[in-house]
Amino acid sequence: MKYALVTGGSRGIGRAVSVALARDGYTIIINYRSRSEEAEETLRLVREAGSDGELLPFDVANREQTAAALEKWAAEHPGEYIACVVNNAGIRKDNLMVFMQPEDWSSVLHITLDGFYNVTQPLLQNMLVKKFGRIINMVSLSGLKGLPGQTNYSCSKGGLIAATKALAQEVARKNVTVNAVAPGFIHSDMTADLDEASIKKTIPAGRFGDASEVADLVAFLASERASYITGEVISINGGLYT
Ligand code: NAP
Repeated sequence: MKYALVTGGSRGIGRAVSVALARDGYTIIINYRSRSEEAEETLRLVREAGSDGELLPFDVANREQTAAALEKWAAEHPGEYIACVVNNAGIRKDNLMVFMQPEDWSSVLHITLDGFYNVTQPLLQNMLVKKFGRIINMVSLSGLKGLPGQTNYSCSKGGLIAATKALAQEVARKNVTVNAVAPGFIHSDMTADLDEASIKKTIPAGRFGDASEVADLVAFLASERASYITGEVISINGGLYT
């Protein structure tokens, strides 16, 4: 049985990724922070897709909580390891820098960057020993291009892109790949407050993307077929210039 951990798997892109990986035969560990009912719905969809899974709530920004959850999972699954991790949990706290409060700066960075470290570091050794691993980091167009009003978010995703490239080179020989997926505007709770009608005029494809479209890309990167792709940032944005 191959296990995949999807952080922020309760809603949006994380839910679609969980379902796509389930379809490809992974057993899904669904992480989230607080919305248990949404996570239960993801688990139902994972089962509907023909696989199985379990819920593993923890705050990725909290090192102790993350370590305790992953240690408990390992103790309950002797001899098993998590072969794929999708670092997808993320938040937006947009504001112009001149108005940005310290909490809005640090919470976004903690969840994206500390979250990546807290979740990935403890899983890495097993991937190296077993000589198979897939690490997929959900970044953003904002981390490539920089977007006004998102200095915190662009900074966090840009940092995660750099971490992706560095780690990919450390672990490539052991058949562990590390890639980043950079969506543009995707329908989810995170984009529900945006002015879709005016933004979509700027997108060559003329529409927001669907979470399932991002999930199909992640599923490919998580598969054996993507063995020679590592250290890449793959945009999925309907043609928005990056
Ligand atoms: P979303 O619908 O707001 O869902 C966010 C998910 O992250 C939820 O499952 C939430 O859990 C979880 N989460 C938030 N903070 C967490 C924490 N500290 N620990 C554990 N889980 C946490 O967001 P989305 O649109 O699907 O975005 C998913 C990822 O894609 C994010 O990294 C985002 O930056 C990136 N992205 C999104 C877009 C877009 O257009 N939507 C574009 C580019 C990049 P709860 O349900 O428990 O709150």
